[in-house]
Amino acid sequence: MRVRRSFLPLLAFLALAPTGLADDRPVVLTHARLVVGDGSPPVDGATIVVAGGRIAAVLSDGAAIPDGAEVRDLRGKTVTPGFISDHSHVGLVRGTSIDAANYTRETIEAELRRYREYGVTTVTALGVNGPILEAARSDAHAGRLGGADLCGVDRGVGVPGGAPPQAVVNVGPDQIIRPRDADEARAAIDSMADRKTDLVKLWLDSMGGAVPAMSPEVFRAAIARSHERGLRVAVHIHDLADAKAAVAAGADILAHGVRDLPVDDEFIDALKSKGVWYVATLALDDASFAWADRAAWTRSPFARAALSSELASQVDDPAWRAKVLADPRLAASRSSLAMNLRNLKALVDAGAKVGFGTDSGATPLRVAGIAEHRELWLSVEAGLTPLQAIALATSRAASALGLEDRGRIAPGLRADFAIFDSDPTVDIANTATIRETWVLGKPYPRSLP
Ligand SMILES: [Zn+2]
Repeated sequence: MRVRRSFLPLLAFLALAPTGLADDRPVVLTHARLVVGDGSPPVDGATIVVAGGRIAAVLSDGAAIPDGAEVRDLRGKTVTPGFISDHSHVGLVRGTSIDAANYTRETIEAELRRYREYGVTTVTALGVNGPILEAARSDAHAGRLGGADLCGVDRGVGVPGGAPPQAVVNVGPDQIIRPRDADEARAAIDSMADRKTDLVKLWLDSMGGAVPAMSPEVFRAAIARSHERGLRVAVHIHDLADAKAAVAAGADILAHGVRDLPVDDEFIDALKSKGVWYVATLALDDASFAWADRAAWTRSPFARAALSSELASQVDDPAWRAKVLADPRLAASRSSLAMNLRNLKALVDAGAKVGFGTDSGATPLRVAGIAEHRELWLSVEAGLTPLQAIALATSRAASALGLEDRGRIAPGLRADFAIFDSDPTVDIANTATIRETWVLGKPYPRSLP
């Protein structure tokens, strides 16, 4: 990217900058190593000017500093855009429980603050949301909650007696719609559109044949009506055949990676020609066994800080671990992750549109905040460079959601970014050195160990 030396655009911007956030005095971050988020290499010695909740300018060091600005020297530190999850959930989990009673403002706000602690500045709650989502979302948009910003699918469209299985998600009747036919599917979309959902979510999967799949009649009607109402559709899939069916029916986002078979040319060509986004959610299957395995990362203070005391006791309990490790379904989770890693690399190499998400918050073990770091680390394990992984989690994730006001560090965009002691583009594990997260121009220092 071009680093501006001229000061004129900055002055023009400051004149237009929105006011209302606590302190409108510009803040100037100097001597930063800047990771723009678009995949371009880091720029050393950048000066970032923040005003009115936005990035006012990105200058090279030595440029004139606006009068009255607060100056912070970031020598030795690296700045990246805040991470964006295209697939998470809020309000479902408390401690080790997953229950409709958890869906409260208190739970949601605590989760949004936790995401922010871990440098995640935008979270998409991809379905199973109750009526309080709307108010929480508008407060989050305005930066009133001290946490990550929140986008969301309203209820989402599931299958009667099928996905998402009530036994797993245990949500209230006002958190999911399960249409029986095309007419009910269209009515479901209309009700979600009327409540101003950001996008639509459909569950297409039969969970390996364990539950009834969504009928083609229902998913085609739901996708067609969503598009008529100007809404994009994210689809839950697991297998390649379902992924192909979703893409053929007009899905805009595949909300999970393909985990049964290697992606083939037919699928890659369909994704690319239709411009469909793909969100791998590597951390999902990983979470099924990593805590029970006591994988090294799960024992780090950085990961442990994301656990409630109840969840920490559970993962430390040898009896719980033995039970999880004896579950015959665990082998499927491990092979699903291996296939997901392989397919992510193939799709990135092929130039498909790949976003970023984890399915964090859907179950107690998919831990908000740490899951997003794990997704970054696993993306690099899949063969991506750290710079590519960070681009997925920032600019690409923003594009997948159609959010043009974030995802890069560039003039005019939201001042949502993270500051690291060590450069995560050198070693992706350095995301754990996060020092501070900024949301809408407001800094939140690390309180993690
Ligand atoms: Zn999900």
